[in-house]
Amino acid sequence: MPDTQATSSPSIDAMQDVFARQKAAFEHERHRSLSERKADLEKIEKLVKERGDEFADAIDADFGRRSKSETALAELGFTIATAKHSRQHLPKWMSSKRVSVPMTLAPGNAYVRREPKGVVGIVSPWNYSMQLAFAPLVAALAAGCRVMIKPSEFTPRTSALIKSTLAELFSEDHVAVIEGGPEEASAFTALPFDHLFYTGSTQVGRIVAKAAAENLTPVTLELGGKSPAVIAPDFDPAEAAKTLAWGKFLNAGQTCVAPDYALVPRGAEKPFVDAMMAETAQMWPDVATNEDYTAIISERHHARLSAMVEEVREAGAEVHQLAFDKAKAGNTRIFPPTVVVDPPLDSKLMREEIFGPVLPVLSHDGLEDAARFINERDRPLALYIWSKSKQTARTFLSKTISGGAAVNLPLLHLSVEDLPFGGVGASGYGAYHGEAGFLTFTHERGVFEAPVWHPSRLVRPPYGKVFEFFKKLQSG
Ligand code: NAD
Repeated sequence: MPDTQATSSPSIDAMQDVFARQKAAFEHERHRSLSERKADLEKIEKLVKERGDEFADAIDADFGRRSKSETALAELGFTIATAKHSRQHLPKWMSSKRVSVPMTLAPGNAYVRREPKGVVGIVSPWNYSMQLAFAPLVAALAAGCRVMIKPSEFTPRTSALIKSTLAELFSEDHVAVIEGGPEEASAFTALPFDHLFYTGSTQVGRIVAKAAAENLTPVTLELGGKSPAVIAPDFDPAEAAKTLAWGKFLNAGQTCVAPDYALVPRGAEKPFVDAMMAETAQMWPDVATNEDYTAIISERHHARLSAMVEEVREAGAEVHQLAFDKAKAGNTRIFPPTVVVDPPLDSKLMREEIFGPVLPVLSHDGLEDAARFINERDRPLALYIWSKSKQTARTFLSKTISGGAAVNLPLLHLSVEDLPFGGVGASGYGAYHGEAGFLTFTHERGVFEAPVWHPSRLVRPPYGKVFEFFKKLQSG
C-alpha cells in the first residue's frame, strides 16, 4: 500500500484501495487496443451529448448562476470536440514511429513504441469544473491509462455528478473519482501515480510538485497567472475592446486564460475604457438578473474581489463599474464588470491573478515598453496582442514569453485542438490538448531490434583491426 503524508481516514483508505486495484488491473492488462480506446472515448462523447443538461444544471447550482450558453460552449461542446478529435486521430498517435539506424549499428530496426504510462491522477479546479476534469481524462483514456480524478470541493454537485456518471460507464479499476477537500487532495497527490496532472493555482501547484517529487512521479502543472492583453498603437482601442470584453467577462472572469490586465497606448485609455463599458452594457444589460452573466463561485472569492477594488479606489484609481441593482440579484454572488484605470502596481490587484470580472488598464509607451513590463513579471499562461500587422504581432511575441498566445482575439487558442496548451515558468509546465495530451500520458519507449547475428559483436576485447575500422566509421 502506498504511503501518504496525510493522516489516514476511511476516505483516504478507500482511495488507496482504488489505487492498488487500478495498479493491479494495469499490470494484468497493459495495452488497451485501438478499438477499446475508441470505445472509451465514444462513451465520453455520448455521456456529454445525452446528459449535458444535467451537467449544466449542476454547474449552475454550484455557481449560484452559470450561463447555460457558456457551459454549452466551454464545458459540453469543448469536451465533445476534444473526445471526437482524439478518437479520430488515435490510429496515427498510437502507431509506433520508425527512426533511422546509424550506419555503425546497421542492420536493424529502431522505433518508438507509444505505451500507456499506467495509473494516472488528475486534480481539477472549480472554474470549468467539467471541462478541466474531462479534457485530461480524454487524453489519459486515449493514451490507454487507468485514471483517478480528484475534482474540486468548491463544485460539489458537479463533482458528485462526474463521479456517478463515470461510475456507470467505467469499472472503478479503470476510471475512479475521489471526492474531497484539501486533506483528500493532499493524500491523493502523495499516491505514487505514473503521472500526475494538476490544474489549479500556482501556490498549490508548488505543493503538488513537491508531493510528486517524493515518488519521482512526472507531473504536469496547469497553473494560472496574470495574462496581459496588449493593444498595439496601430489598432483601434475601441475595436479591441469588443473582443477583449467578451474574453475578460466570460464566466465572470473566472477563466485561467482570461486577459488579466490591459496595456493600452498612452493617450488611448479613455476611448478604450468607454468602449469596454459600452460593450459590457450591451452584452449584459442587467447583470443582476441576466442569465448569461455568471456569479462568483463563493462568498470568500467575492469578498476578495471587493477588497481588491476597494484598495485601489482608496488609493485614488479611477473605477468604472457597470451599475446593477444588488436587491434584484438577491443571494446570487454577482460582481459587476469593473474596469480600473491605472491602479498602483503594488496593489493586490496588480500583484495577484485577479480571477474575476475586474480589468486593470495600464498605459504603455510603445511595444518595447509593453514587452519590458511583461518580462519583468512572472511568465503568464497566455498573452494577447491586438495589431493590424502580423509582423508587429510576431515581433512582439518574439520579445516576450508566455504559455500560449493569441493575436486579435482572447482565449480561443485553447480551442485549437492541435495546439499544445500549457504554461511556462510560474504558469506551469507540461501541456495537453490534441497529440500533446496523448503524449503527456504516454511513455515513448525506444526500441532497437537487432538480427540474431549483429556485426557489433565483433567490437569487443581484445580490440584490434575491427575496432579500428568501427572507430573510423563512427567518427566519419
Ligand atoms: P486550487 O489550487 O485552490 O484547487 C485546485 C485543486 O487542487 C482542487 O481539486 C483542490 O482540492 C486541490 N487542492 C487543494 N489543496 C491541495 C493540496 N494541498 N494538495 C493537492 N491538491 C490540493 O485552485 P482553484 O482555486 O480551484 O483554481 C483556480 C486557479 O487555477 C487559478 O489560478 C487559475 O488560473 C488556475 N487554472 C489554471 C488552468 C490551466 O489550464 N492552466 C485552468 C483553470 C484554472
